[in-house]
Amino acid sequence: PSQEYELTRRRIETNVHELWHFLRSKTNSSIMQTVNEMKHNLLYDLGIIENRDKHWRESELKSLSELVQNKIKELQNPSSCGSAQKLVCQLNKGCGFGCQIHHLAYCMIFSMATKRTLIMNAHNWRYAHSKSKSSEAKGWNSVFLPLSETCLDESGSTRVSWSSAPDLDSYQVIDLPIIDSLRSRPNYLPLSIPEELSSSLIQLHGSPIVWFIGQIVSYLMRPSPEMTDYINQQKDRFKFKTPIVGVHVRRTDKIGTEAAFHPLSEYMKFVADYYDRLDLFNERKQNNKKVERLVYLATDDSSLWAKEVKEFEDKGYVFIGDSQISQTASIGRRYSIDSLRNIILDVWLLSESDFLVCTFSSQVCRLAYELMQTRTHGNSQFAKTDKSSAFYSLDDIYYFGGQTDHNQIAVLSHTPHNKQEINLKIGDIIGIAGNHWNGFSKGLNRNTKENGLYPGFKTIEKIESAHFKLFEPN
Ligand code: GDP
Repeated sequence: PSQEYELTRRRIETNVHELWHFLRSKTNSSIMQTVNEMKHNLLYDLGIIENRDKHWRESELKSLSELVQNKIKELQNPSSCGSAQKLVCQLNKGCGFGCQIHHLAYCMIFSMATKRTLIMNAHNWRYAHSKSKSSEAKGWNSVFLPLSETCLDESGSTRVSWSSAPDLDSYQVIDLPIIDSLRSRPNYLPLSIPEELSSSLIQLHGSPIVWFIGQIVSYLMRPSPEMTDYINQQKDRFKFKTPIVGVHVRRTDKIGTEAAFHPLSEYMKFVADYYDRLDLFNERKQNNKKVERLVYLATDDSSLWAKEVKEFEDKGYVFIGDSQISQTASIGRRYSIDSLRNIILDVWLLSESDFLVCTFSSQVCRLAYELMQTRTHGNSQFAKTDKSSAFYSLDDIYYFGGQTDHNQIAVLSHTPHNKQEINLKIGDIIGIAGNHWNGFSKGLNRNTKENGLYPGFKTIEKIESAHFKLFEPN
């Protein structure tokens, strides 16, 4: 299939969802029952078209993934650590687990773009503090494999802090600040993807940047043997199986500061919609079996288990997950190894779900969504190869903290119907701020400087790419 065919196929799917969001914001619930069935039926037929090339898509995405993983492995295991070019990243950003993994991912992007081995300084990691200096990486290594088998030493003959200075290449070791403190911003920062991969990725995946970040976080989070055992034990204990919907409810310290409160019932509307879809899919396959409505629930607010879950259990949903989780989210505290394992387990099992319902304002769920793009094994017959559309976020669209502008291109013109809407001319560049999930997105028309609402179906994504040294032919 050509790139245009794949883009068109995916655009139809995106716009089926946009149309549905528009209708559900305008229409009463009795009409929506029929609209929902029409949507599921359209998605079933689109799935048939998609599955025609499933094996091709799977094998192409697999080779791309192998290419990226092998390149990272090569970069991280130089034959001589003493003379290797290095980039040093401090794992002490004052934030939660998802945020810290994203900080490391940002460092890895720099490493890949400049072809420097990434050295992580995990001393004082708040998630697994080790007292003695000699066991710096012990905390990290109790859950993840080391980033290198040959090179963990940050020393070098010359060392400097990162800047855009032209002679930077001549230094052996570079210290990287956090993304928020960068004084100049190289063009390879997210949402850019490596130009060496871009045409394949645009053809194969609905969100190339999410796939690319997924590859990076999956390298960073390669579980240690103990962690692998722990994940498998817990999966057995929960009787984790597919199809399953992952629900992440982020509350505690996030509410009122960075996100709004959403009751579980809001998330469950989209879980219901997903399972209604599977029921219709089964009918179309002439299979009368109803799918068990399994939900993996991850949350930092354990009161949900006691207070909100029962209503939906009574409606036939089955919830699995750790209801004993302690509330661990307060910033500035150190965490026990148990809470570290628990958050990793939650991210892991969310990423192995067939569909995610959460708030993308949380790094935990964005991380799960990124990793989800790398999960190709063991999923149900309904699982898609390209999982970019396998989510519903109650708030933000996907973003990478500290990203450069997220732009779209107008493919249809628009004349405002009211004061909140803005004009679009074909070809206008719009900086998108969010999707209101009612058919409209909000953004800034960079050509007219107008800020406001526009119909999402009138735009397409503008995908940026940049040169990454790591992908230069050897
Ligand atoms: P954000 O604040 O939600 O954007 O994500 P961060 O990862 O930066 O910080 C959230 C922290 O809250 C995590 O590191 C966890 O310690 C805790 N947390 C949030 N959601 C969950 C969850 O579903 N399960 C567990 N075990 N912990 C969570």
